[in-house]
Amino acid sequence: MESTNQSLKPVTTRINENGNIEIGGCDLIDLAQKYDTPLYVLDEATIRSICSDYKKAFSKYPKVNMMYASKALCTMATSALLASEGFGFDVVSAGEIYTVYKAGVDMSKVLFNGNNKSFEELSLALNLGVGRISVDNFFELSLLNEIAKSNNKIVDILLRITPGIECHTHEYIQTGHLDSKFGFDLTQIDDAVELILNEYTNLKLHGLHAHIGSQIFETSIYADEIEILVKEIARLDEKFGLKLDEVNVGGGLGVKYTDSDLPPSTYEIADKIINSLNKNIEKYGIEPPALFIEPGRSIISTAGVTLYTIGTSKQVPKGKTYFAVDGGMADNARPSIYQAKYYAEIVNKPSQELAKTVTIAGRFCESGDILIKDIKLPEIEEGDVLVVFNTGAYNYSMASNYNRVQKSAMVLVNNSQSDIIVSRETLDDIISHDIIPDKLKRD
Ligand SMILES: *Cc1c(COP(=O)(O)O)cnc(C)c1O
Repeated sequence: MESTNQSLKPVTTRINENGNIEIGGCDLIDLAQKYDTPLYVLDEATIRSICSDYKKAFSKYPKVNMMYASKALCTMATSALLASEGFGFDVVSAGEIYTVYKAGVDMSKVLFNGNNKSFEELSLALNLGVGRISVDNFFELSLLNEIAKSNNKIVDILLRITPGIECHTHEYIQTGHLDSKFGFDLTQIDDAVELILNEYTNLKLHGLHAHIGSQIFETSIYADEIEILVKEIARLDEKFGLKLDEVNVGGGLGVKYTDSDLPPSTYEIADKIINSLNKNIEKYGIEPPALFIEPGRSIISTAGVTLYTIGTSKQVPKGKTYFAVDGGMADNARPSIYQAKYYAEIVNKPSQELAKTVTIAGRFCESGDILIKDIKLPEIEEGDVLVVFNTGAYNYSMASNYNRVQKSAMVLVNNSQSDIIVSRETLDDIISHDIIPDKLKRD
């Protein structure tokens, strides 16, 4: 069965009676005029569709908790939406904790994760009742125990471990290999457990957590990960009499950025994960643990598109044809960081012949600010609106104010209605944290 992460475009994308592309029943030209560009557009039906794919796919295992990895895109509206789908949240900073808290999320379904959590962040997590902390290293074990003790609390934790698996994805988004910066090495787990059982008595260990990478297309890698996690749980029971009943396998399922990307479906990864879990539960003789999965990209990427207005162009003699748009690396850093590829169309010319191979350049002052290299598009004119697909994940969440450009707005579309969920920054927002010391003030 197919799932929504395998689609290049939001599920409601179609060409309407004006001959323009619409999403969620909203004409993208109207949205560009009403809200200005660059504009992030999120399709609610696509988000709900992938959530339902995940829930159906994992329904064969009795104890499943879906946790959305907020770092892919974290706003109060998306948090409220995903909470309404029954999702918990994986968060990695005070900012993400505060966002989901203010969105009214059930904080007991939040897991705090990260390789260098500060005293202030851990204290905030405790005060706001974050349900689980995934402890990454020895320093954090000791720091968290101190904070828990001084607050008279027992804190529920997982251990983040590095399973030592290489996955075939971009080097920067691999996380499970042995010299990764994340988590305890397998050889350090016993020392960590001994400390928790004997010294850090304000910590209660519930299970193991791993995350092996992102934009993963290879399902077999989850089977390898799960065997390692289950085997460790069985070993810790034998050695310490410790009954761990939670396994968190992380996120990582890929999406379709361009036609040549063929990610597996949620059903394929669910089968792989559940079969491997059941097989290893039997093989190692443990009680079936609760399964936690933490998809980020695959939940939100396909639902998001970015609209840009085409500005100037440049024809390099005997070279490339560039068209510049009004955004770029500050609203989508992925092409410049990861050489990520994207697919785009001209909103007002969806059916026209693909006349020319062009390169879409951003407006920021870096030669590397190229959004799409060599894409076939119809004859382009200044003022046309470009829609770049699959920008829901790791675009807004990585956005910057480089060149002091205001961050873009975001709208949620559904049933012909558009709601602004992040407003466009103003020029006053840009200077709102600036302070001129008295000695530099001019009178
Ligand atoms: C980033 C991350 C995820 C989500 O990864 P995706 O590839 O976006 O699904 C899940 N868990 C952890 C611990 C992460 O760091």
